[in-house]
Order: sequence, then C-alpha cells, then structure tokens
Amino acid sequence: MEKPLRIGVLAVQGNFREHAAVLRRLGAEPVEVRLPGELAGLDGLILPGGESTAIGRLMKLYGLDDAVREFDGPIFGTCAGMIVLDRDHLGLGDYRTERNAFGRQVHSFEADLEIDDGDEPIRAVFIRAPWLEDPGPDVEVLAEVDGHAVLAREGRLLVAAFHPELTDDTRVHERFLNIVRQEKEAHVRA
Ligand code: GLN
Repeated sequence: MEKPLRIGVLAVQGNFREHAAVLRRLGAEPVEVRLPGELAGLDGLILPGGESTAIGRLMKLYGLDDAVREFDGPIFGTCAGMIVLDRDHLGLGDYRTERNAFGRQVHSFEADLEIDDGDEPIRAVFIRAPWLEDPGPDVEVLAEVDGHAVLAREGRLLVAAFHPELTDDTRVHERFLNIVRQEKEAHVRA
C-alpha cells in the first residue's frame, strides 16, 4: 500500500484544524507545523486562511518565514495563506494580492466556480477574501469570480482565495495532493 503523504499544516493561526480534517479524509497524514524543524521530511505544506498580518508576524517570530522560503516541496495557500505567499510577503508566488478585495465581512459570499470543462462546478466560500493580481508568466489561473483570479497554480504552488476546507467538496485538496504526488515522483526519477 502507498505510504500516506505527510502534509504539514502551518498551525500558528487560522483554519489549520479544518485543513487537517480534510487531509485525514483523503488518507494523508496532517502534521501541525509551529516550528521550523517540523518542516523536515514533509511531502507538502498548507498555509491556511486566517489573518495574514497575524500569520506573517507569528511566522517571523518563530523563524518560520525563512524556513518556509527554504521549503522546496509543494505549497497550498488558501485565503490569508495565498496573501502570505505573494510577491510582497514571502515572495514565493509571482503575483500580487488585493486584500479584502471583495469588501469586508458583509461581503463574505459563496460562488460556484467552473474549473475544468465538464466537471461539476465547485461551491466556494469566500470570507473577506483577497483576489490575485498581476500574475507572472508561469501562473496559470484556474478559476475566476467576476473576472478576478481566485484559484491559480504556479509550478509547485497552488493558491486559492477561498476556503476549500469549509465545504464537503474535497476536489481542490485532491488537486493539491496530485501535485504532491507528481513532485514526489519527479524527485525519485531525478
Ligand atoms: N482578510 C484576511 C486577510 O487579509 C484573509 C481572510 C481569510 O483568510 N479568510 O488576512
């Protein structure tokens, strides 16, 4: 049997428990990450949603900012996690984010996202969500709301402006785990 994928979930603030629960449902092993040493040996990493300023401050305090910059596996950032990865923060993703772009709390909403032709749309929950702007040439926009990019892939990075951990639809996490498997195989071959 395939060994379960070990996926770190940054657990300094925000929705890390919900992400861990989805990973467990999909047969992966979630590992809560609060210290740089806990990144060792992980197959992938999730940066959850929450409050990006708080997450950024806590990451700096614990030395997780440099540690995550050096982590070379796949990373999935959702909402605040997408902000933390952008050009103006950790600088791992070649895009900018517009914070609270859809408006503040009152503008939290749900939307159906068309991702792959022929697949059922994904019901997505947006909470004080950012959107993605100025994507670099390697950023593939996978879904939009009103013409604004809300799901994108850039090589080993997957970023979502919404909260796939808050619905029963596990397809976005599955997409991430597929990236993790592909990267793992590429490493074995290299
Ligand atoms: N508005 C939050 C921020 O800017 C992100 C919201 C979220 O992660 N749900 O950090």
